[in-house]
Amino acid sequence: MMESFYDITLNVHRYDPDTDKRWIDTYQVKAGRIMRFVDVLRKVNDEQDATLAWGSSCEHGQCGSCSMKINGKPLLSCELLVENAVHYFDTTTFTIEPLDVAPVIRDLVIDTDKAYGRVDKVKPYIIKPKPLGEKGEEHQISPEELERYVDATRCINCFCCASACISSHHNFLGPNAMLAAIVRVMDPREQEKQSRFDTLYSENGIYRCHSSQACSFVCPKEIDVAHFIALAKNGEIKPA
Ligand code: SF4
Ligand code: SF4
Repeated sequence: MMESFYDITLNVHRYDPDTDKRWIDTYQVKAGRIMRFVDVLRKVNDEQDATLAWGSSCEHGQCGSCSMKINGKPLLSCELLVENAVHYFDTTTFTIEPLDVAPVIRDLVIDTDKAYGRVDKVKPYIIKPKPLGEKGEEHQISPEELERYVDATRCINCFCCASACISSHHNFLGPNAMLAAIVRVMDPREQEKQSRFDTLYSENGIYRCHSSQACSFVCPKEIDVAHFIALAKNGEIKPA
């Protein structure tokens, strides 16, 4: 019979910046089967420990601010239902840790300014837009052109892929920053390509990737990040 509630155990990694102390707290929670992990953490705040810090915003899988590692897997905690977690990990005990792509500010909250620093390096916007038509007509991108890179535009910079990435070089741009550069190279509206190629093919760029595909495996937006990196490695990212 399907359970209505699960008695789950959370082992949560804590960090207090005032004392620079790290420890693990264990919480026992009676959790409804369709509660999400953000709901579970809020229940812990309400009923057991108001000091536990974690982040979230939209809680609909669109902003990427509730990402964390649960039993070692980077994911969006707003998307993981208790019942699915019990079945996926085959346990009712969950270890919850912050992502390891930037320093921890407190408990499960990381310094996103530092994490975004890598994305900012690739200028995740159109630097030099193609001029509009003579009469101001907007650009038209054919469905075939768009099809080549539209998946990559769904990235929400949750940093799950960067956390899962096995390339340990500390200056490596990481998968989502590379994806942000690749998608602008493939966008026919962008005219500034060379500086993007310089970044992508620099010593901190795509050749640090080991093609493990861990990034694709964890991406909550189901973007095959490793596929786009492979296109860049093979010199196939020019617009159609
Ligand atoms: S590529 Fe996927 S996992 Fe990586 S930051 Fe973007 S949405 Fe998150
Ligand atoms: S495929 Fe490359 S970028 Fe993706 S996780 Fe593996 S090493 Fe990192």
